[in-house]
Amino acid sequence: MDSQLLTLIELQAFDTRLAALEAEAARLPAQIEAIHAALASAKKALDALKTKVDSTKKDLRTKEKDLEVVTAKRQKAEARLWEVKNNTEYSAVLAEIEAIKQEKGKGEEEILALMELQEKLAVDVREAEAQFKRREAQAQQDEAVVRKKLAQVEQELAVVRGERDSRARELPRPLLTDYDKILRARGGVAVVAVNSAAVCGGCRVGIRPQAIQELKAAQNLMICESCGRYLYWQEPA
Ligand SMILES: [Zn+2]
Repeated sequence: MDSQLLTLIELQAFDTRLAALEAEAARLPAQIEAIHAALASAKKALDALKTKVDSTKKDLRTKEKDLEVVTAKRQKAEARLWEVKNNTEYSAVLAEIEAIKQEKGKGEEEILALMELQEKLAVDVREAEAQFKRREAQAQQDEAVVRKKLAQVEQELAVVRGERDSRARELPRPLLTDYDKILRARGGVAVVAVNSAAVCGGCRVGIRPQAIQELKAAQNLMICESCGRYLYWQEPA
């Protein structure tokens, strides 16, 4: 086989491998970002829960202060029972005390509910914090795995690029320029096989019988008349 054709075939193998490695090198940082994003959203959920704990605490303090006010109001009203002049006033103060009692009862119920909520939230926060710590540790582990993989891919890329470039130097400059041009224009595939099906391995257009004979002889470089890729004959396995 023509030595330039052999070099082109090898170059294509390098470039196919490089494309796969480059795709992986591009994909892995996105994986790291996804790990960070998932952790950030878990952190956000934890923070939201903590914010709820704070606001419940604040609500509870407010309700307790309100209750103190109501209690003082009741004491005042009860003291006034001794100062009333007649039955009408007495009934009015009693009614007022009854209303204050109702208000106090309602306030006490609300405080109880808030205390229960506070206890429940305290448990939730402890669980959520423990879970977040586990997730954080897992994320760090996952990220380390991806980073290691990325380093391997980048190292391999450097090696394969070096091998590819030294192989490329074996070709005359115009041929290499042409190859690179086809590679870019044709989705990273510039050299394709033709087998007994007699179609271009790139664009599937039929190859004339005479061209097949020339391909088998492999004396000259041949290109597909349809897609412009370099062709080579592949014996049936
Ligand atoms: Zn073709």
